[in-house]
Amino acid sequence: MSSRQGQVDAIVVGSGLAGLVATYELTQAGKRVIVIDQENRNNLGGQAFWSLGGLFLVDSPEQRRLGIKDSPELALQDWLGSAGFDREDQDFWPRQWARAYVDFAATEKRNYLRKLGLKFTPVVGWAERGGGFADGHGNSVPRFHITWGTGPEVVRVFAEPVLKAEGKGLVEFLFRHRVDELILDDDGAVIGVRGAVLEPTEAERGVATSRVEVDEFEVFAPAVIVTTGGIGHNHEMVRENWPTQRLGPVPEHMIAGVPAYVDGRMLRIAEGAGANLVNRDRMWHYTEGIHNWDPIWPDHAIRIIPGPSSLWLDANGNRLPAPNFPGFDTNATMKAILDTGFDYSWFVLTGDIIEKEFALSGSEQNPDLTGKSLRTVAKSRLSREIPGPVKAFMDHGVDFVVRDNLPDLVAGMNEIGRGGHIDLQDLERTISARDTQVENGYAKDAQIMAMHNARNYLGDKVVRVAKPHRLLDQEAGPLIAVRLNILTRKTLGGIETNLEAQVMRPDGHVFDGLYAAGEVAGFGGGGVHGYNALEGTFLGGCIFSGRAAGRAAARRG
Ligand SMILES: Cc1cc2nc3c(=O)[nH]c(=O)nc-3n(C[C@H](O)[C@H](O)[C@H](O)COP(=O)(O)OP(=O)(O)OC[C@H]3O[C@@H](n4cnc5c(N)ncnc54)[C@H](O)[C@@H]3O)c2cc1C
Repeated sequence: MSSRQGQVDAIVVGSGLAGLVATYELTQAGKRVIVIDQENRNNLGGQAFWSLGGLFLVDSPEQRRLGIKDSPELALQDWLGSAGFDREDQDFWPRQWARAYVDFAATEKRNYLRKLGLKFTPVVGWAERGGGFADGHGNSVPRFHITWGTGPEVVRVFAEPVLKAEGKGLVEFLFRHRVDELILDDDGAVIGVRGAVLEPTEAERGVATSRVEVDEFEVFAPAVIVTTGGIGHNHEMVRENWPTQRLGPVPEHMIAGVPAYVDGRMLRIAEGAGANLVNRDRMWHYTEGIHNWDPIWPDHAIRIIPGPSSLWLDANGNRLPAPNFPGFDTNATMKAILDTGFDYSWFVLTGDIIEKEFALSGSEQNPDLTGKSLRTVAKSRLSREIPGPVKAFMDHGVDFVVRDNLPDLVAGMNEIGRGGHIDLQDLERTISARDTQVENGYAKDAQIMAMHNARNYLGDKVVRVAKPHRLLDQEAGPLIAVRLNILTRKTLGGIETNLEAQVMRPDGHVFDGLYAAGEVAGFGGGGVHGYNALEGTFLGGCIFSGRAAGRAAARRG
């Protein structure tokens, strides 16, 4: 057992984005930090590296250039309408974090990041368009700003200064060290952490690693910041906390949108030591998951971030009720799907739709943006070709059926359906009825209306939403069906924290010495999103809460 005392000002557990931001802030204040992570150095930056780097900003120059009229008031109305905070105790801190975070996104956030070297692409995405009412869930306007360089760039701007601080001796990393226990003094304050040293590994980033223990360790410091992420890859915990009444029956088949280290262990450890966990039933999983044909972590799932035009059908071929259109209302769609008794659904679309409307979430799925090459981006985004990564899924993905005619498409769908049955005549009727609605520039079909509405926004018209056309139009390319699975990703609840990111105890008192930030703290407060997210708010939540934790811990001593 190695034991170290009195050498550093703070311990940060977890070297994901929240941990890096907290460490960056501590070192800016001249503090000495030990950063502990169960994975190896290849995984620096955690999940954020894999992300698309979408960031929620309010009334930004990028929005204004596209004619989008946004304001802090509109953003707060959207946030609160989406969050639906309704719990007196558990939502006490989340409500305050929500107001503070929307204010941050409308003021300091962009400059804070730009000073570190982060830039954004010019087209702002319109994610999570909502449930159909102005005061309900959803973004009234596009706010999803994609980082130039995607997730790796978000990581880089914090990792670089932290690595520089390592060079100066301010930061020490303990990789392959897994924290199993918080150490408390006689007054109940956290004074350190204890755990296991795991066997060394050269595994590539994201690959699941062994949990073989080769030693034990303990480290002491006046402040411990927990930034260990959520529960997304721990399907046992997801099932345990699943809100059946709100989201429908627990899906039997789930695939993982996060690496295996997003294991949720530290939540239980913190709770065992005396931290208050809140809003555990709030989670943000996606209904548009596809099995990665080239997996990196176990059960690796990729999320389609869809434009609004694909026809969305349940396992038996019935259209999902309005407004459960692609990209509108994640949780309502989840319930609509699961209430059918099946844990999958279908997109039916054309070559023209897939070419323009299928974005795949993940830095590795967007090599043009990740590689920061203007030429490649212009070529891939403005050309009339199906993007390479999407084409690879059409060719190799187990969820894709690509055929020249409807009877063959339906036969292919029925081959890979998990229990549901698609009737050819019924589907033909559904599609033909839908197709009658695209002849005019207006329609009574709510999805077609939504497509026209989207194309009123320049960004959508240019790169995101296909011109309305008949699905059975031979000129629109092959017919495509995609079997959509439930993909687990984000944890919206977690460790309760006050605005200083100090962990709270169940009795409402501060847990002295302990701080939490990032996904483990519900991105701030134990659930800054409430029930629903507006998207691009997770990386931002890690940055905002990591910054708060680092600054507060730095003020400590
Ligand atoms: C593919 C993908 C796309 C995404 N796209 C977006 C997007 O566009 N916009 C957005 O806002 N969000 C996005 N997200 C979500 C966002 O990336 C994450 O929510 C965020 O990065 C979480 O960061 P974190 O620091 O809280 O936790 P993590 O990144 O999970 O880091 C936690 C770290 O703690 C370590 N750890 C855990 N337990 C222990 C322990 N007991 N001892 C030691 N170490 C431990 C883990 O090994 C890990 O390195 C995406 C996520 C993924 C996976």
